[in-house]
Amino acid sequence: MDVEMADRVKGKNYRCNDCGERFTSVSKRPICPSCQSENVSEE
Ligand SMILES: [Zn+2]
Repeated sequence: MDVEMADRVKGKNYRCNDCGERFTSVSKRPICPSCQSENVSEE
């Protein structure tokens, strides 16, 4: 199994509703890396 590919597939894209930062997270409760807000939407 390709571990690198598995990691890529697991991560989801999110966008912060407070500051507009876009980021990828594998966490179930992603937090914006820019402003630490939990107010994010999955893209
Ligand atoms: Zn933010």
